[in-house]
Amino acid sequence: MKSQLTNRRNSVAHLSLELGRRRGSIILVLFHTETCAACSVYLDKLSQENAELAEWDAEIATVAPVAKPEAALKHAAARVLYDPEQSVAKAAGIDTPGVVIVDQWSDIADINAAGENHEFPAVADVIASVRYLATQCPECEGETL
Ligand SMILES: [Zn+2]
Repeated sequence: MKSQLTNRRNSVAHLSLELGRRRGSIILVLFHTETCAACSVYLDKLSQENAELAEWDAEIATVAPVAKPEAALKHAAARVLYDPEQSVAKAAGIDTPGVVIVDQWSDIADINAAGENHEFPAVADVIASVRYLATQCPECEGETL
């Protein structure tokens, strides 16, 4: 079944998420419940690459499908965004859990549905995506990497 992947890039700019000011991309890890252990394991794995991700101006944020910070999510390594409507997943056309990478203009650049079995994208693939986005940046164009 084909989803909206054939559409032009979807934007998350209209969503009521506080993506915050940033220079580069943001890797949204969509938890399917706020305390899911399998989702947490992946987030921890990804967070171990924070230094590398920062080199490509990328940061990680957790998207929790709950309304308020009363949720038990405590991840020092990543910001937590609250998305009770699951608006990010809807904009991306997937169900949680998954990983959605948003570029510096708040356009969805990469969509990975992990599915029930939590088959998240390989960390190396996530790094490759944000590296690609960083090197696509007009401000960086011309700089040899
Ligand atoms: Zn999960």
